[in-house]
Amino acid sequence: MPISSRDVRSAADRMGFGSGLVMVHGSLASFGRVRGGAPSVLGGLLEERGRTVMVPAFSWAFGVPRPRSLAPLARNGVDPGFRGPTGGVGRVFTPECGEVDRDMGAVAAALVGMPGAARGAHPLNSLAAAGPMGDALVSTQSLLDVYAPIRALAAHGGFILLMGVGLDSMTALHAAEELAGRRPFRRWANGPDGQAVTVAVGGCSRGFGAFAEILAGIEQRDRVGDSLWRAFSARDVLCLCAAAIRENPELTRCDRAGCTRCADAIAGGPV
Ligand SMILES: [Zn+2]
Repeated sequence: MPISSRDVRSAADRMGFGSGLVMVHGSLASFGRVRGGAPSVLGGLLEERGRTVMVPAFSWAFGVPRPRSLAPLARNGVDPGFRGPTGGVGRVFTPECGEVDRDMGAVAAALVGMPGAARGAHPLNSLAAAGPMGDALVSTQSLLDVYAPIRALAAHGGFILLMGVGLDSMTALHAAEELAGRRPFRRWANGPDGQAVTVAVGGCSRGFGAFAEILAGIEQRDRVGDSLWRAFSARDVLCLCAAAIRENPELTRCDRAGCTRCADAIAGGPV
């Protein structure tokens, strides 16, 4: 039996999201068959409950090299000599552009394309949201305060929902790294006038599975079709994970030998 919008709505109700705020990371493929595809999943999450749904709507494709006028930063998670990507050269991101990286998934792309959805003004790591609090959340995002909407979500008692994806997809864990005292990496993208601006971005998340034990006590689980849903209080995620990073910075290190981003983040980020 294919999953319907109603199945999604029931699961969201069972998890107690009510008319609150939820940051969603999801894989449409994880459900098996879904009648109506990504818009149907999104519809079930939003429904008529007055709920606000936020998603990561990253667009790394707008990245440009570090301007030659700026010296390279130490501990910035890039290998020496690499000035950065070129996909964004000659292009300007706007919150209305509708472009989102393919690996953000179909649900995030559907939300970005929804009439009335709001999107933060961050050219590489924007967050997008729909629902009554959507604009209020994402408008807190700025070039150098990339995770402000996640802290706002936590302050409003919001949830984080993983639909068939792992902790390595949970953007809030980068917010926890920042709360633990790490400075986010700096990258570049063109501003509205076409000149490169410096923006803060997250680092490597390949090692974030290590937070499973720390979060086990606050995790709710459910299943929708073949999709394993895992929900967490955003406030608890930020508190518990920031404390865990302070206590053991090595916790976030991934298993890739010589990962520059992990090494530099663990050392505290760029100087
Ligand atoms: Zn790494």
